[in-house]
Amino acid sequence: MTDDPKLQPKGVVLFACDLNRGRKVDCSSPGCTNRSTKQCDHVVTGRTTGTCDRPLCDRCAWEQKPGVDLCIPHAKRYKALKGRGLDPNR
Ligand SMILES: [Zn+2]
Ligand SMILES: [Zn+2]
Repeated sequence: MTDDPKLQPKGVVLFACDLNRGRKVDCSSPGCTNRSTKQCDHVVTGRTTGTCDRPLCDRCAWEQKPGVDLCIPHAKRYKALKGRGLDPNR
């Protein structure tokens, strides 16, 4: 039996640091396990932030226009309203 500190398991401290480095949020799409890199920018009245804010990864975000990304339900809604000639921003 040895108490040599070199034999102590490593990585525990690194792991703790990793947990504290920002909040990693998974993409909100069902079945998607990617890390989110964006949030839905669809305007939602009644929310403090004023937008949907659903976390999205690069693959699941739909770019309505540069700088504006929509989650899948909001992208569908946007396209449906636009297809009917309605104003999707309402
Ligand atoms: Zn995703
Ligand atoms: Zn959304």
